[in-house]
Amino acid sequence: MIILGIESTAHTFGIGIVKNGKVLANIKETYTTEKGGIIPMEAAKHHRNNKNEIYFEALDFAEIKEENIDAIAFSQGPGLAPCLLEGMKFTKEVAKKLKKPIVPVNHCVAHLEIGKLTGAKNPVMLYVSGANTQIIAYASGKYRIFGETLDIGAGNFIDTFARYAGIGFPGGPAIENLSKRGKKYIELPYKVKGMDIALSGILTNLKQKLESGEYSLSDLSYSMQETVFAMLVETAERALAHTGKKELLLGGGVACNTRLQEMCKIMCKERGAKFFCLENSLLVDNGAMIAFLGEVMFEKGIKVDFNEVDIKPRQRTDDVDVKWK
Ligand code: AMP
Ligand code: MG
Repeated sequence: MIILGIESTAHTFGIGIVKNGKVLANIKETYTTEKGGIIPMEAAKHHRNNKNEIYFEALDFAEIKEENIDAIAFSQGPGLAPCLLEGMKFTKEVAKKLKKPIVPVNHCVAHLEIGKLTGAKNPVMLYVSGANTQIIAYASGKYRIFGETLDIGAGNFIDTFARYAGIGFPGGPAIENLSKRGKKYIELPYKVKGMDIALSGILTNLKQKLESGEYSLSDLSYSMQETVFAMLVETAERALAHTGKKELLLGGGVACNTRLQEMCKIMCKERGAKFFCLENSLLVDNGAMIAFLGEVMFEKGIKVDFNEVDIKPRQRTDDVDVKWK
């Protein structure tokens, strides 16, 4: 089976091609800014301007002809409506042209399912991306959220902090580099509430510290990472203890951060769990994960009628009807 996967929930337009569980192509283009954050309509325009090129590049890379595609999977939600609409429009265009069925995929669950490529079988996933920050695990027939951010996603939080410091989008990689030069730990609020975390108060605190001019940006970046990553690792560890699972899968764009990976590894080692993490190109938003889960779903006969295809900007991980397991 050959499945095309289309990702367009936010900043990235990506096309992946998967054949029998193997990624043949994973091509993407990400909307970035010099200053300021994502403007949804601008990101949607970015997707519109790049989609055809990415599509043909993916076909070339995979060395397949479009008529050999069996189904088209697309990221239905959650995400920014203007961006999701671009993905849906393109999905319908290709499906109509090739006369192939459409498979609707949940973006967050796709991040988790592609983690199977690491060898993880039944993990707790610490999913840390731009808009989403959740601890997800499969239990009693559903992907359940064991903990999550109560306000903003960790990636958006880091990007906003970076923006205050005059760094454009995405800010995560720049902040990670700065943090390596940080020497002094500056005390910040630590906000874990039960299994959930809250980040907006820490953001305000960081902004005030930055504006005071008393602290270096590298010390603040370092302290921010140490504090917020510890909050993530603490709640992930508690989810492992609660579910009795023995595997931690780290995913989402923020998972590219080597310090976060290191902290997760230490926690797993201390409690005898196994740590899994994909390569960076599969951690950030990408089309391959949509094709990967799309194939699993399509094999179980899951597809959607052409006229019923729709986006779900606010779809939650635990709303997904997991009919493929
Ligand atoms: P995603 O939405 O899953 O594609 O992830 C995008 C987010 O990952 C953005 O908020 C980036 O700033 C963040 N990100 C990417 N690389 C890093 C990194 N090395 N450290 C921290 N955050 C990162
Ligand atoms: Mg994501």
